[in-house]
Amino acid sequence: MEILFNLAEKEFSNHPERSNRYVKLTRSISTRYNITLPHYWRGRFCKKCNSFLKPGANLRVRLSGDCISRKCLECGHTTRVLYTPKQD
Ligand SMILES: [Zn+2]
Repeated sequence: MEILFNLAEKEFSNHPERSNRYVKLTRSISTRYNITLPHYWRGRFCKKCNSFLKPGANLRVRLSGDCISRKCLECGHTTRVLYTPKQD
């Protein structure tokens, strides 16, 4: 998992389309083996178009109130996450 993520990160600058393949691969692996994606993976790809997302490149992160909205600049899909600091 971690290896795939690092590969996707590394390939992004040169071959964004390869990164997207790694995203698909990782997602299919996690579905097949019922593995929860590591925290660093979440929010790093678009759930709609499976693009690898890099903040500042094709990901726009905005804080609005207690929500974090992430917009994928590849397909325009926006994910809104309620920002609640964990207290456990
Ligand atoms: Zn997208």
